[in-house]
Amino acid sequence: MATQLDPVDVVTVGAGWTGSIVAKELAEDGNQVVSLERGGERSPQDYLTMHNELRYALRYELMQDLSKGTVTFRNTPDEEALPMRRLGSFLLGKGVGGAGVHWNGQTWRFLPYDFQIRSKTIDRYGRDKIPEDMLLQDWGITYDELRPYYLEFEKLCGISGTAGNLDGEIRDTGNPFEGPRAEDYPTPPMKTTPPLERFMDASADLGYHPFMSPSANLSEAYTNPDGVSRGACQYCGYCERFGCEWGAKADPTVTALPVAKETGNFELRTQADVRRLLYDAREGRVRGVQYVDTVTGEEYVQPAETVALTAYVLHNVRLLLLSDIGEPYDPENPQDSGNVGKNYCYQNFGGSATGYWDDEQWNLYMGAGALGAAVDDFNGDNFDHTGLDFLHGGNIAITQTGRRPIVNNPVPPGVERNWGSEFKRASVNYFNSSLSISAQGAVLPYADNYLDLDPTYTDEHGDPLLRMTFNWKEQDRKLAEYAGEKCREIMEAMDPDRMSYSDEVIGEGGDYDIRPYQSTHNTGGAVMGPNPDVSVVNSYLQCWDAENLFIPGASAFAHNSGYNPTGTVGALAFRAADGMKQYLQRPRMLD
Ligand SMILES: Cc1cc2nc3c(=O)[nH]c(=O)nc-3n(C[C@H](O)[C@H](O)[C@H](O)COP(=O)(O)OP(=O)(O)OC[C@H]3O[C@@H](n4cnc5c(N)ncnc54)[C@H](O)[C@@H]3O)c2cc1C
Ligand code: SF4
Repeated sequence: MATQLDPVDVVTVGAGWTGSIVAKELAEDGNQVVSLERGGERSPQDYLTMHNELRYALRYELMQDLSKGTVTFRNTPDEEALPMRRLGSFLLGKGVGGAGVHWNGQTWRFLPYDFQIRSKTIDRYGRDKIPEDMLLQDWGITYDELRPYYLEFEKLCGISGTAGNLDGEIRDTGNPFEGPRAEDYPTPPMKTTPPLERFMDASADLGYHPFMSPSANLSEAYTNPDGVSRGACQYCGYCERFGCEWGAKADPTVTALPVAKETGNFELRTQADVRRLLYDAREGRVRGVQYVDTVTGEEYVQPAETVALTAYVLHNVRLLLLSDIGEPYDPENPQDSGNVGKNYCYQNFGGSATGYWDDEQWNLYMGAGALGAAVDDFNGDNFDHTGLDFLHGGNIAITQTGRRPIVNNPVPPGVERNWGSEFKRASVNYFNSSLSISAQGAVLPYADNYLDLDPTYTDEHGDPLLRMTFNWKEQDRKLAEYAGEKCREIMEAMDPDRMSYSDEVIGEGGDYDIRPYQSTHNTGGAVMGPNPDVSVVNSYLQCWDAENLFIPGASAFAHNSGYNPTGTVGALAFRAADGMKQYLQRPRMLD
């Protein structure tokens, strides 16, 4: 029998980026907030011995333990899904701060085009441009509506960069394709380095528009509007997959959570694994959540006025399905089915190029998770798609994240991979004298790419695992081909002695492969939209089927853009928090 706890105003399920932002905002507003996080407490003091590639980057010590719970995967609905036994394609977070502790910090705004992708595509190219089985839809929010929330997230973190569009004034030091922004970035861009300069010079020579990538690794000391001060990045190179011992990388434990704690209205309850949201279908509300204390095994019910489901894309969707909230999506009947689980998308890194130099040393052992330069000329609808058989595009970037010695063995074409003395010699030789660029391609939703509950496999509590059905489509293959050619062109202009390039999606035979790391940019499954016929949440991330439930996170993305997701995830979390405040003042469906 579960122990009943005293009710609170707000519960967040998870304390990653989204949970922490909601907790801070609602606690500051005077509400009693409890964050339930299934992992343990963490802070920068825990990261003093973090520079250990084997332990953290290869054995995934900060991440989800798949022996207790995982996802099952198949490429197509007619296959049997099998559990992912080892982290690979994506690296799920666990513990206070979530994946926001071990992320890189590349922090983008999506393009205005993204939020109205369906209408803008039809306006420019006609309805026939959208394939029948592509479930492309507008998001039910515009870039202009989301703009103030982007700014809040950027100020919380102190994002480093240069504006390319300052309220309509196009500036060639930034990204000229971005949507207008009211203010410049809170801190200037990070340092340029010889590899980044080589990329920027080459792409400018080709007539493209390079700029320094926006970064949550602070370029200089910064105090945010909440009064939280953090020091500048040391370019230590142990950033992606590691926590930052300097607190220079914005993560929830050094930004939102300390402020929530200061209010006196916030309790962070760790080792609390939420199994169900308690749903009253007749009332169209949730009463709270049920969770298990993973240390004692005891079950608790935490009643709440409002619940924020902030457990990451895959767990958000799974908890909705386990709690019978909303209608599950049915791929057999996409137009008339429910929406929970639909529009699952990912990120397409198929286009890339690597150059090898005989006489250059690039000092790649230094770097930072978001140190990079990019061009956006081939992203979104920034170029004409007439005559092209794909939509959208991708951001093309070079990053200098810090080359780790175990995993990085760059060898030029012609050298036998992963084996023998020639391989070893070449790997040592080119470790510091090769550079890669890649396109981060958008992925658009298709009827048979979706999430549901697995009929066979369960987690440690006996609850069904989430099942992922996903494969690349012709759209993805054509996009990779196009982006790969652009990467090749830019790399050639960077003048290496040798080069290789890829213009194929990642995976054998053109099928998505869940084993090699690609990105933790899973999106969709509880998408936002203008009405309940096509979406799970409205523009405040408020659930159509449970008005006191808000579901921020990339689960709300109706498709995935050609950028990393967390800038938009953070903005949507601020938007959801705004909605929750309004709701607590006067309970209703918001519009
Ligand atoms: C290696 C890596 C690099 C990345 N780099 C970038 C980047 O450069 N730029 C970018 O934009 N994005 C990047 N990301 C993605 C980014 O980390 C995520 O978009 C972001 O962390 C999502 O925030 P979230 O709050 O939705 O989920 P999370 O950060 O994953 O937080 C969810 C939390 O909920 C908890 N939780 C889950 N289920 C339950 C449950 N049942 N009960 C209680 N708690 C639960 C989890 O333990 C976790 O702490 C990267 C991710 C990884 C792994
Ligand atoms: S590279 Fe910079 S932000 Fe990243 S972990 Fe090192 S000091 Fe921190």
